[in-house]
Amino acid sequence: MSDCLFCKIIAGEIPSSKVYEDELCYAFNDIAPQAPTHFLVIPKAHIGSAAEVCAENSAVVAHIFEVIAKVTKEMGIESYRIVSNIGEQAGQTVPHLHFHVLAGRDMTWPPG
Ligand code: AMP
Ligand code: ZN
Repeated sequence: MSDCLFCKIIAGEIPSSKVYEDELCYAFNDIAPQAPTHFLVIPKAHIGSAAEVCAENSAVVAHIFEVIAKVTKEMGIESYRIVSNIGEQAGQTVPHLHFHVLAGRDMTWPPG
């Protein structure tokens, strides 16, 4: 999508700090980190949020979880949190599916 911030990051039109990339997904450090480690993993194909995951596009979600398991292991991270916000009330600010990966500090539960 031409007016999507994360599609622009994938296209290299907006700079980002790359953590990982393959043909299906892109991972980059969050610009406003909420933990010592905070990166986002996004599908390269535009999906608005987890609410738009369906039989036709769900394979990339499984792939992203494989990537998160691999990348965190390579970083030596054993404990982390994966978050995906859906919709305004939950705190979604960028309408392109993304998984936050947060680590390096004690996490609270329930989340605020
Ligand atoms: P959410 O609020 O769940 O939609 O998450 C969007 C995330 O994108 C927030 O944590 C922002 O800090 C992050 N973000 C926004 N713009 C950028 C950018 N240009 N580069 C990296 N992260 C960004
Ligand atoms: Zn997009």
